Amino acid sequence: MNRHQPRITLLAGGVGGAKLAAGLAAICEPGQLSIIGNVADDQEFHGLWVSPDIDTLTYTLAGRIDSDKGWGLANESNRVLDGLKRLGCDSWMYLGDQDLATHIMRSHLRQQGVRPSVIAQRIAESFRVQSNIVLPTDDRLQTRVRTPQGWLSFQEYFVREQCQPEILEIQLDGLEHATVTPEALAAIREADLLVIAPSNPIVSIGPILAVPGLGQAFALSNAVKIAVSPLIGGATVKGPADRMLSACGYSCDNVGIADCYTDLIDGLIIDHQDQSETSDLEQRGLNVMVTHTLMQHTADKARLARELLQFAQELVTVEKLAC
Ligand code: GDP
Repeated sequence: MNRHQPRITLLAGGVGGAKLAAGLAAICEPGQLSIIGNVADDQEFHGLWVSPDIDTLTYTLAGRIDSDKGWGLANESNRVLDGLKRLGCDSWMYLGDQDLATHIMRSHLRQQGVRPSVIAQRIAESFRVQSNIVLPTDDRLQTRVRTPQGWLSFQEYFVREQCQPEILEIQLDGLEHATVTPEALAAIREADLLVIAPSNPIVSIGPILAVPGLGQAFALSNAVKIAVSPLIGGATVKGPADRMLSACGYSCDNVGIADCYTDLIDGLIIDHQDQSETSDLEQRGLNVMVTHTLMQHTADKARLARELLQFAQELVTVEKLAC
């Protein structure tokens, strides 16, 4: 690993992923950090293509996120959504007025045949984001959740139903036709450090690694590979990752997280509250770092990012000594 300016590629979902992305961006040089985001939560609303996780990354890195919610733009208004409601349209998916501008631009460029990866870059540039936001695929990939009510799109389950229905099965549609983007492959192949954010391993990181060719490139990379657990004290900070782990047959603890990333990571960062799980994880051949992983403020995010880089450096040194 290049000690002075390692090239870092982060695999990230929305809220949890964006927090670590912000921490890494705060301590990196412009261009040093690439983030491969999740597109399997995307859905069309009112004729517009909405890409919630990519927008959360963009708005967070631009410093424009609504920090109370962790998604959407700060200082939003919702006049368009109110108008749509008055017209009898579904309004359960909150789309603020300024946010709608992003979706209009994205949808317009998609209709013109511009590659979704290029559109994501252009939007990020307009928001003056200095890190590279990369799509894993330009093809349509969609997470679906089977509940007692039947199959739901991810947003129907997450936003409309507020994650209440029991999860019977989770499926990723579109994989057979999905091709990895050259940008994602390059971001993985050129990285000195590959990081998996504290994102939902089933519906945020899973769909990225599932893109044919991407997971293999990740596994074959010689970079140091570290994941940050999204669990603290055996529970999620927010969202349904714990129930999803159980529904997919994983234990809802850091061993379950490690099992999601078998043969993919050298090290796992876990929270102090879960310190007792260290020996089980080490027995699986993992290097473990224990620290405070809750990121509430800018300083927490940058501190965790710095500790992550230090941990990566230690792993390189250990590997060299072992040779
Ligand atoms: P989503 O696509 O918006 O659901 O976001 P992600 O998949 O990126 O993140 C969801 C996960 O982030 C949840 O499982 C949370 O437990 C985790 N998470 C959120 N904030 C934090 C944090 O500050 N620290 C840690 N360790 N995990 C977090």
